[in-house]
Amino acid sequence: MPELRQNPATKEWVIIATDRAKRPEELGTGVINPPPNEKDHCPFCPGHEKLTPTEIFSYRTYGTAPNTPGWWIRVIPNKFAALQPEGNPDRFQMENLFLYMNGIGEHEVLIESPEHAQSIATMPEKQVEEIFLAYRERYIALSQDHRFEMITIFKNHGLNAGTSLRHPHSQIIATPITPNHIRHRIEEAMRYFDDHGTCVYCDMIEKEKKLGDRIVAETDNFIVFEPFASRSPFETVIIPKSHASTFDSIPPERCKELAYITRMTLVKIFRSLNNPDYNYIIFSSPCHERSLEYYHWYIMILPRVTAVAGFELGSGIYINTVIPESAAKFLRETPFE
Ligand SMILES: [Zn+2]
Ligand SMILES: [Zn+2]
Repeated sequence: MPELRQNPATKEWVIIATDRAKRPEELGTGVINPPPNEKDHCPFCPGHEKLTPTEIFSYRTYGTAPNTPGWWIRVIPNKFAALQPEGNPDRFQMENLFLYMNGIGEHEVLIESPEHAQSIATMPEKQVEEIFLAYRERYIALSQDHRFEMITIFKNHGLNAGTSLRHPHSQIIATPITPNHIRHRIEEAMRYFDDHGTCVYCDMIEKEKKLGDRIVAETDNFIVFEPFASRSPFETVIIPKSHASTFDSIPPERCKELAYITRMTLVKIFRSLNNPDYNYIIFSSPCHERSLEYYHWYIMILPRVTAVAGFELGSGIYINTVIPESAAKFLRETPFE
């Protein structure tokens, strides 16, 4: 019997297709070896710095000049930016109905490693820690610009997740608006807070710990689980156990632990699904709505092992062909070291 499940934090309904359920190991995809000579044309490889816009920020060996090799993390403006930095965030209305504004924003690319064929699952943990420290620095810098409402940090890994560039990189986009689907999450969390006096995410963490069957991994300060109403197979959440609504509230020294648990989760996904394409997104409250009691920052990993089809697009109801409890068990049992 399929199950309709509602995510208590977003009120989104998901169909868990128990009778069409696949075994978690049936979904492996992916390519592990890069084609030869790919690096010769890669704009993100060291030595090719002139092929990218001027760097905004880098972690580099002392004494090396910007836009030359010697870096281990490099942030550049996106050459094909979705938004442009200049302009003001004034809203306009046409015919008293159609609201519009300038497409202002920052769109940055964070090159995660000088090594072309690495991914977070194959990098040393120290490098992953540096990535999170750099995310944090850029988040803080961009949120100082009062025109921006939201800083979205995300990663597309592989063709099905929206990137054709193999060199490991993430993107950071600052937007002057809070999109509706984020606003919806925040409002549902606020409603939950009004009813219960607690943060729905803190409550989810507590109940998931009590039940245990959807937990993938846990450290002192973070927990990884498959949401009760996962929209797609192996949807995975990494969330801090202590309440905080913005990503930049993570103390820098805790980025090491976040790197450890994120890398562990991605190694397990890499091994169990044979290097699948995936996206991850850091969800955080809007810049001007800091320290919210009812919202909680987290990272969501979405392996792209099934395609979104007409029914999902039309109805907004997802059909998930892997039971979240089986996915969690499978990931728990996949060796890490
Ligand atoms: Zn490269
Ligand atoms: Zn919370």
